[in-house]
Amino acid sequence: MFETTHASILPARISAQVSGLHLASIRLEAAYPALPTPLQTSSGSLEVAPLLIVQVLTACGVIGESYLFSPNRTLLPALSEATKAVFEVVRGDPCLPENITDKVLRHFKLFGGTGIVTMAMAAVDMAVWDVVGKAIGKPLYRVLGGTSPELRTYESSGLGIGDQRTIRQQAESFLKNGNTTMKLRLGYETLAADMGALDMLADAFGSSVQLMVDYNQGLTPSEAIKRCTEIDGLGLLWIEEPIHADLLEETATLQAKLKTPIQIGENLWSPTEVDRALRLSASRYLMPDVGKIGGVTQWLRAARLADNYGVKVSSHLYPEISSHLLAAIPNAHFLEYADWTANQFSGHAKPSGNSLRVSDQPGFGLYA
Ligand SMILES: [Mg+2]
Repeated sequence: MFETTHASILPARISAQVSGLHLASIRLEAAYPALPTPLQTSSGSLEVAPLLIVQVLTACGVIGESYLFSPNRTLLPALSEATKAVFEVVRGDPCLPENITDKVLRHFKLFGGTGIVTMAMAAVDMAVWDVVGKAIGKPLYRVLGGTSPELRTYESSGLGIGDQRTIRQQAESFLKNGNTTMKLRLGYETLAADMGALDMLADAFGSSVQLMVDYNQGLTPSEAIKRCTEIDGLGLLWIEEPIHADLLEETATLQAKLKTPIQIGENLWSPTEVDRALRLSASRYLMPDVGKIGGVTQWLRAARLADNYGVKVSSHLYPEISSHLLAAIPNAHFLEYADWTANQFSGHAKPSGNSLRVSDQPGFGLYA
């Protein structure tokens, strides 16, 4: 969990500009916006997005804003308490996000590097990066040296596990909006049912739809070999999390047998875990989650490691925040677009067709 060898991310001239800002207090609020499209995956059903809304206040009045998506609704209060505890470690410190993250990592080293503490660290880290953007009056991707605000996106708001009529209707509505790339959830009871969903989409839309599939860790390693071999010739963009995220060696064995790239990353909790996945060649693509990997600082460190291996990086959720990160790295692949926060943030990042233009508001632009 403790990282010491990363090259600095924030340019020195910007560090000098923001080092006089100090963290004064934090405000946290729970929100439960309804998903515009409820989603069923192999790991459960989602109807609301449990969010922790975060505001970090600086002594001079600049307010940094971020949020966390809590994969489990009942743990949102615990996430809030942990975020308060993380903030206490850095209260009064200058708004230098890498220093803040490394201090929190050192402080909680004995607690371990996954779960609620890491997400709480992400909440604070993201809000501090938002302070940096607002303090110098630039969108975060520009602070980070990004020059091109156009990103490739795919639709991830629907195509859950369910009846074929609903899947087909959702795919039709995505297509109507110009989104031709979309993610289908698999991991039905049987391989035949997985194939049924794929065949239906192929029959209905042919090559006008490009698909990636996500098993949400739903298969055993032996079942994954059987099912992924069966779908390997279908021209899928990737096969996501076929087996449990901890089983990196087994994922590498599976990847070596397949032509189709495997995609993992949303359940890797640090750049160190990302590095391990890269060393093992566990997957051909990576998609870290900015909330689970520990925030903007740790996400960018992971993306740099991936670039060293020539691996392209996509995002997982958080479109308003992830869009700035992808626009700032040379190895950007796809932005995952899910509409889960559309009812929460006035600055919600929404694609047009298969592309998204990153917000030009200072910081993340969560509230336009
Ligand atoms: Mg996934």
